Amino acid sequence: MIAGTNFPPARIEQIKGDPEVMGMVGDLSGLSVPGPQHRELHDMVKEAEAEVGAKDVHLLVHRGSILGTAYLPKYDVLLVNERFPQVVLPIECKAILAHEIDHKEKRGLVTKAVTAVTKLAGEDGGRLQDARAVLFRFLTFLEFAADARSAKTYGAEHMYNGLQKVMVACAMEDDRIKAYLFPERRIEEYHTLTEDEIRNRVTGIADGTFEPLDKGDVLAERFKRLRNFAPSWER
Ligand SMILES: [Zn+2]
Repeated sequence: MIAGTNFPPARIEQIKGDPEVMGMVGDLSGLSVPGPQHRELHDMVKEAEAEVGAKDVHLLVHRGSILGTAYLPKYDVLLVNERFPQVVLPIECKAILAHEIDHKEKRGLVTKAVTAVTKLAGEDGGRLQDARAVLFRFLTFLEFAADARSAKTYGAEHMYNGLQKVMVACAMEDDRIKAYLFPERRIEEYHTLTEDEIRNRVTGIADGTFEPLDKGDVLAERFKRLRNFAPSWER
């Protein structure tokens, strides 16, 4: 354990048993506070935390099958796969960490929005769909806001490139992402998809040459907004 990284073990056990978290990262058996072998990752989190102007970011590392990196508002924890720094460059890693730390900063807003929407839905059951749509739009907006924070802190191109690499790595491991990227393929064909094919498809979504089925696709929109941040960068 690295000094200052203690976290209640009972809380870790609670996260390990959370099916929602498991769905995001796969196996959670390796969930722990960062150890000496995670020093590089820990230091990058600390740097991004300072750059963003946040504090008290609790990093937990995992060895799940999916390269999931996420801020968990329910536990106020930043969850990072220990393989993450091997998949992206350090600057891209920090850009993505800054994005996640922005989610931590907006944690109070999310809680308020969920409470408000739950109340709205409760007052009239018929408005449940509307309430969900409002919440979805709000959460989507938070993704754009987090990307904007990351772009401002480390440069839009690093978030853009890092996000592509993460999508490729996640798609290699997660059929749900393959299904999203390749709506024209049948599930039986997924194992034949090569890393190059996946990378080409992700690049297509990023540069706008491939349009996802859904018109208001959040990922495509995130890439588009990141491109607009710095139209002249080298790609
Ligand atoms: Zn996010």
